Amino acid sequence: MPARPRYDAVVVGAGHNGLVCACYLAARGLKVLVLERRAVVGGAAVTEEFHPGFRNSTASYTVSLLHPKVIRDLKLAEHGLRIVERPFANFLPLADGGYIKVGGGVEATQREVARFSRRDAERLPDYYARLDVVADVLRELLLETPPNVGGGVAQLLPAWKASRAFRRLPLAAQRDVLDLFTLSAAEWLSRWFESEPIQACFGFDSVVGNFASPYDPGTAYVLLHHVFGEVNGKKGAWGHAVGGMGAITQAMRREAEARGVEIRTNAAVERIVTRKGRAAGVVLAGAGEIESRCVVSNAHPQWLLGALPDLAGEWREPFSNYRSESATFRMNVALAELPDFASLPGREAADHHRSGIIMAPSLDFMDRAHASARERGWSEHPIVEMLIPSTVDDSLAPAGQHVASLFCQHFRYALPGGRGWEAERERAADAVIEQVNRFAPNFKAAILGRRTLSPLDLEREFGLVGGDIFHGKLSLNQLFSARPALGHGNYRMPLKGLYLCGSGAHPGGGVTGIPGHNAAREVLRDL
Ligand SMILES: Cc1cc2nc3c(=O)[nH]c(=O)nc-3n(C[C@H](O)[C@H](O)[C@H](O)COP(=O)(O)OP(=O)(O)OC[C@H]3O[C@@H](n4cnc5c(N)ncnc54)[C@H](O)[C@@H]3O)c2cc1C
Repeated sequence: MPARPRYDAVVVGAGHNGLVCACYLAARGLKVLVLERRAVVGGAAVTEEFHPGFRNSTASYTVSLLHPKVIRDLKLAEHGLRIVERPFANFLPLADGGYIKVGGGVEATQREVARFSRRDAERLPDYYARLDVVADVLRELLLETPPNVGGGVAQLLPAWKASRAFRRLPLAAQRDVLDLFTLSAAEWLSRWFESEPIQACFGFDSVVGNFASPYDPGTAYVLLHHVFGEVNGKKGAWGHAVGGMGAITQAMRREAEARGVEIRTNAAVERIVTRKGRAAGVVLAGAGEIESRCVVSNAHPQWLLGALPDLAGEWREPFSNYRSESATFRMNVALAELPDFASLPGREAADHHRSGIIMAPSLDFMDRAHASARERGWSEHPIVEMLIPSTVDDSLAPAGQHVASLFCQHFRYALPGGRGWEAERERAADAVIEQVNRFAPNFKAAILGRRTLSPLDLEREFGLVGGDIFHGKLSLNQLFSARPALGHGNYRMPLKGLYLCGSGAHPGGGVTGIPGHNAAREVLRDL
């Protein structure tokens, strides 16, 4: 009889989902090995020094979607994870020198919105309530394995469960679900609000990690995707992980190690080994084969195309056609002082410095940024969100100085006219800085150092194909049972014993831990 492989499961990639999956597998007594290509674990959720004395989250930078069950089961708080809430969600300076602040309680937001439209302020509580009803449907489905299309009678139960969440809703809410999955964010928002600032503030979420105009059908769903989370029990809130996003994945690593998971960094997997029609292990770049009873991939779904060169079949077409480009550009800057906003002056840390600062004053502005990017690759007037985590976390910068995360939308992965990111990266970074400087004129002069990641850098550094921050577009044809492709929506990939546990699986991108949680359940079922 052949010897039993040394490992029950090899997880390819130590992104947060790979670590979560490994933890759940090890909890059931499986012998698990995690292999990570980079020198650190965490994937897109890491904290690194980017300028001497200044540390910050390198890619992902703010928390909301991390599921409370994952936080609890993996004892992340016991491992030191602390998440602080923003005083209010967003500060959005306007083109005419004004501003709007959103969040910090419905009444506070109503007072802000009433400065622009009394009618909008009155509608706000109803808007939140209706959106929350739909977000609750999503929440209910997050931890479910989507029914697998083509999976026969075995799929009747998951299909019934999924439809039950929808059928239980009153008719008006069912209509909202349909609209939020199909309409543009602009159309959805204009049904509720007449004033530009509130539309811009809410509409911003619809273009985050989504190369689209807020006027494009389907963008309302991306808006919804950003509200299903919670911080410390507060639904829809966003917060900061003290120590940066790496604090989350370091806490996960500690729990994985406590459960006996073996983790190797600087270990790039080249391909998946197939034996008797099953995944039977992996081959490491320059370091031979590792046998395992099953393989779980935390990598982008399209990585499988190269890792299984000999596996023919109908799966290759949908996996090749998978849409993966969020058109995102990411920077960290070290600052000698805080930005002094013309619309809300002050260089001392104030609540607006502790919120998500959106520099995209209207939906039309976002539409223009998208149109320019379509034509020229990126816009000289880009959409920028800035967070200054050092205002709530003194572990990131020397006293009196600061770090800011700049998260910028609509920078194409492939630039037109044969241009390349190596030559263009710093010019695009300058345009981002100019955009912030338009609202906070001391910003440029305050910069002590910067690190810039173009879409190409995101691909090279983190393996995000096409630079897509979510491991693939959150479009209707790539969600739920169709993520990453119809027929493979239940975490099982085209080869027996091969699973997907990353953001390319349901429910998609964000630091949620959910694909890792759900994939582990399916692996355990099969083993
Ligand atoms: C710039 C940016 C900003 C973002 N902002 C936010 C945010 O603020 N909040 C939020 O919730 N989400 C945010 N996201 C999205 C979120 O970070 C990702 O969806 C999430 O981190 C993906 O986690 P994952 O574990 O599924 O995959 P990843 O984090 O991508 O991990 C996959 C891991 O697999 C490794 N790997 C790949 N191929 C191999 C191989 N062949 N061998 C070994 N290892 C391999 C990679 O190195 C990586 O470590 C952001 C993402 C980016 C890029």
